[in-house]
Amino acid sequence: MCQSGTGLALPRKDIVFRRRSLIFRTTAFVAILCLSLVAIDCWNSWQARTVQLDQMGVASSNLARAMAQQADDTIKEADTALIGIVERVEHDGTGPAAVERLRKVLAMHVAELPQLDALHIYDGDGNWVANSRQVVPENLNNASRAYFLFHRTHEDRGPHISIPVKSRTNGKLLIPISRRINHADGSFAGVALATIEIDFLMKFYDGLDIGQAGAVALILETGTMMTRRPFSTDMVGRNMRETALYRTYLAEGPVGTAEIKSSQDGVTRLNSFRRLDNYPLFVGAALSKDEVLAAWWRETLWHTGGVVLLVSLAGIVGWRLIKQVELRTKAEGELRRARDALETLNKTLNTLAMEDGLTGLANRRQFDVTLDNEFGRALREAGTLALILMDVDRFKQYNDIYGHAAGDECLQLIGRTIANLASRRPGDLAARYGGEELAVLLPNTDVAGAAVLAERIRSAVRELKIVHAGSSDGFVTLSAGVDALSPVAGKSQPKELIQSADKALYEAKTAGRNRVCTTERSTLA
Ligand code: GH3
Ligand code: MG
Ligand code: MG
Repeated sequence: MCQSGTGLALPRKDIVFRRRSLIFRTTAFVAILCLSLVAIDCWNSWQARTVQLDQMGVASSNLARAMAQQADDTIKEADTALIGIVERVEHDGTGPAAVERLRKVLAMHVAELPQLDALHIYDGDGNWVANSRQVVPENLNNASRAYFLFHRTHEDRGPHISIPVKSRTNGKLLIPISRRINHADGSFAGVALATIEIDFLMKFYDGLDIGQAGAVALILETGTMMTRRPFSTDMVGRNMRETALYRTYLAEGPVGTAEIKSSQDGVTRLNSFRRLDNYPLFVGAALSKDEVLAAWWRETLWHTGGVVLLVSLAGIVGWRLIKQVELRTKAEGELRRARDALETLNKTLNTLAMEDGLTGLANRRQFDVTLDNEFGRALREAGTLALILMDVDRFKQYNDIYGHAAGDECLQLIGRTIANLASRRPGDLAARYGGEELAVLLPNTDVAGAAVLAERIRSAVRELKIVHAGSSDGFVTLSAGVDALSPVAGKSQPKELIQSADKALYEAKTAGRNRVCTTERSTLA
């Protein structure tokens, strides 16, 4: 049976290996594809997040810079006014005429500078000398205020920024900036005070875009909160020394950025802090990390959704592909098994077609084919081919006496006997020629050799001692005719060998049966 197709032509181990390798490669391809998609998306998202956070850092840093600049400018303007006032008081004194002029100057400054709530001058005992409001409150003494106590005990001529206070006149929250006034001999003569409205700073802070959870603050370097957004009155003046922002500022200032988780609301913020150029204050600008990353999260969720969809599709397609390969492998296995079964069946059928059912010897068909083949071979190789034709003696009678079934058994026994004796060489063939006629084909054998074997068979059958009442010596016997020939091209035919052997058999019969005869026509010695 011929086979077509390379798959089936390969050895089984190779096919299994090839299929497994294909399944493995398909699985690996799908896995690598899915992993690559996920990895690329993760990398992209991480990059986008890093960029977002970097931009957030720049934004908060810029906020801090703008706030520091604004606070510095605001205080500087008030302080510059104070410098002029101190110089004027120290030079002109505080006589009634000088005070009158001073009031006008103070009012002029307050009118000019929107951040100023008021300007005040106190004498060495803390009593109001003049202020920008024109009306000096009676019996009001500020000797207990922190800035007054500071200047009285410090000879330093620089500006002093105190913790925020609540105005005794209008209740506003104010940041006091003060300078010391000296007598000509350098002794303490009083204090010039400018009060900056916290509201002024808050207007600027309220205009900053810091999101819902962002925060900004202005803090004294000593740790006191000046003001912040989101604003709360409670927070103004609060001690900030224990906060993470303050500690980070001390450790990393005057300029820096740090990610800090708020102990108050639990929000993680990116804090940028910066000291004012000219005053002992620093600002902090904090943006909520979650808020900054909200857009990134939205985008990442979309990406991830898309990637999950792609990976699922690739997984499904890959899975179906692998299943197809498995199915194909299974189908090929079944096909192979079917082919093997068919081959076995063919062999069996072939054997059955070439074998005689009763005796197990070759049948007439196989005999004819083998005779033709061996005849051709003898022709090509200039060899000889011998044939023994045998016929059971008086077998019709045997059937008549003992029945057909006994006749069959008898034929089987004789068949086995011949098979045993005539299978010495691979080329020899014992066959049932027909009915109770049997034949042995002997390649490369001469008449004498064939006659020896024929005699051995005859004798063996006789020695089986199968009782036959119709036989002359009481047992089943057979007669044999033997011939051999060396085929000549164009002259000899296979049937000649049969005819001459049959003739010899006939002679054996007529000569009294139970004997072997060879033909006189034999060309061999
Ligand atoms: P001879 O000695 O001249 O050969 O006499 P014979 O009786 O053997 O000659 P004949 O050819 O007249 O008879 C052959 C008989 O063999 C006839 C047939 O019934 C019998 N026979 C042929 N084939 C089978 C078989 O397969 N089984 C049985 N039981 N008998 C068979
Ligand atoms: Mg016969
Ligand atoms: Mg016979």
